[in-house]
Amino acid sequence: MTFRAPVSEYEFLLNTVIGFEQIAQTDRFNEASSDLVTAILTEAGKLCDEVMAPLQRGGDLQPAALANGVVRTSPGFDAGFKAIAEGGWIGMSAAPEHGGMGLPMTLTAAVNEMMSGACLSLQLAPLMSQGQIEALEHHASDALKQIYLPKLISGAWTGTMNLTEPQAGSDVGALSSRAEANGDGSYAVTGQKIFISWGDNDFAENVCHLVLARLPDGVPGTKGISLFLVPKFLPNEDGTLGAANSLGVVSLEHKMGLHGSPTCVMQFDGAKGWLVGSEHGGMAAMFTMMNNARLGVGGQGVGAGEGAYQQALSYALERKQGRTPSGFIADHADVRRMLMEMKADIYAARAILLACAHATDMQTATGAADWKARAAFLTPISKAFGTETGIRVADLGIQVHGGMGFIEESGAAQFLRDVRVTSIYEGTNGIQAMDLVARKMMDGGDMAHRIIDEIEAQAEGARATHPNMGEAVWQACESLRETTEWLVEQDDLQDRFAGAVPYLRAFARVLGGHYHLTAAIADKGGPREKLARFYIKRMLPEHSGLLTHVQEGAAGTMALTLEELAG
Ligand SMILES: Cc1cc2nc3c(=O)[nH]c(=O)nc-3n(C[C@H](O)[C@H](O)[C@H](O)COP(=O)(O)OP(=O)(O)OC[C@H]3O[C@@H](n4cnc5c(N)ncnc54)[C@H](O)[C@@H]3O)c2cc1C
Repeated sequence: MTFRAPVSEYEFLLNTVIGFEQIAQTDRFNEASSDLVTAILTEAGKLCDEVMAPLQRGGDLQPAALANGVVRTSPGFDAGFKAIAEGGWIGMSAAPEHGGMGLPMTLTAAVNEMMSGACLSLQLAPLMSQGQIEALEHHASDALKQIYLPKLISGAWTGTMNLTEPQAGSDVGALSSRAEANGDGSYAVTGQKIFISWGDNDFAENVCHLVLARLPDGVPGTKGISLFLVPKFLPNEDGTLGAANSLGVVSLEHKMGLHGSPTCVMQFDGAKGWLVGSEHGGMAAMFTMMNNARLGVGGQGVGAGEGAYQQALSYALERKQGRTPSGFIADHADVRRMLMEMKADIYAARAILLACAHATDMQTATGAADWKARAAFLTPISKAFGTETGIRVADLGIQVHGGMGFIEESGAAQFLRDVRVTSIYEGTNGIQAMDLVARKMMDGGDMAHRIIDEIEAQAEGARATHPNMGEAVWQACESLRETTEWLVEQDDLQDRFAGAVPYLRAFARVLGGHYHLTAAIADKGGPREKLARFYIKRMLPEHSGLLTHVQEGAAGTMALTLEELAG
């Protein structure tokens, strides 16, 4: 199977569904003309097809390894990373003053997703750097920016994020890494971090770690955490590299998938680092990186789903079994159902992802609080639904292959093994859903209701041309509105949390209905309208059961005692 980056799909979504021109009309992004967008997507697509996709299998079969304390990456990853760096793709949305292209995040999200479909484990390396670049742009001192940003943007150096410790996973505030001032403006950072993606590599001159640690006067919990930039090699004042820092990779994790991405246990022994943001303000700075990465990880899910779909479709168009008009299994109704579900959900998740990136760009361009709230609301949905879609699609991809899906040579299993972690890292999908129903509804559900109002208005208008689809989306909005009202009335957060995951999924289902309806209106009588009908008639109704689940609250979920659970 040969991967083909979905360039034309992106053009359609940007131009017809998401309203990219609104971004291009702002002063900040007025150079992002439609010609430039096409050129960028086409170039990125070539890199995905010709350079990255051929590395996908090798990364799985010959994982990154640790040799004498140094990570040796999978064959071809060195050249692959350099091609990404030389194309300027790492700094697409970074500020031009440090060598970035200053392009909208919406384009970066599109390119990142295409790269994820081509080779997820390699794509994670530039994604980590991108998050670090954004965190430094917002929170680092000018001196740190001058030294680090040009190197990270050019890809000469790479970035990582170091939050997790054995006792501090979802509960980041439980971390025990510590830092002490050296008296010269730098700090000594000590502690062990686990699960650090791309904690080392053999293709960058330097690896820069953003590390969360606690200063001696830091209070317990997240409020006492500070963020430090701790490089593998200490830069001299002129930017050249000096001595090795006192940190290292202890071991690599043996993982279910994503073998090309080294997941490191890192040890920091009084390693020299510099504060990013204010003392004890580490979480605020880290959140900049995490929000960037959440959008990126949602895109990883969609991208991996695209890869799995292309592979399954290609198999279904070659495999003969049973009697069908074409002779191939793609004509069996149940195989077609699977392919349609895969295609329809990838479209929905991709549109949600782009809508979130669009809101982020509008926030950057206008500074308006409304765009900020919209981007914040859509981020957990993009992350959780994008990754859930990737996993579900990859699983269906295996099913389409029949027995061959279970055999590693087909490559179908790799998509599922690789994408599975995306619902876990960057905040598990459960944590994302809890964020949606608690923090993101501290406005009393205002942003949720505004989005529902917009969808409902479009559905109302669509009744003239697409009565059945318009009515179905309208009804779904009403159910979602009612459950949202119920949710914000629940003072006991446990009642919200018990239904958080189904609520997030139901919201995504309705958003998906909205974007499919938009496509149907734009492509009346065409394939997009047919796909939209399939989604709205057969997949959107899932929201109803999910919302019923939400309104049951926590009592039933917590009904069994721990002893009864084990009984
Ligand atoms: C391949 C890989 C790469 C990674 N890369 C990085 C990286 O680069 N940098 C980094 O810092 N970390 C990284 N991680 C760590 C990752 O972010 C954590 O695994 C994740 O945050 C979950 O933490 P945990 O594993 O400790 O699970 P736990 O926090 O123990 O969670 C276990 C379960 O309990 C649930 N849970 C936990 N707390 C709550 C709560 N308050 N309410 C409801 N449910 C809860 C979770 O949703 C989950 O289902 C990586 C992990 C993997 C596997």
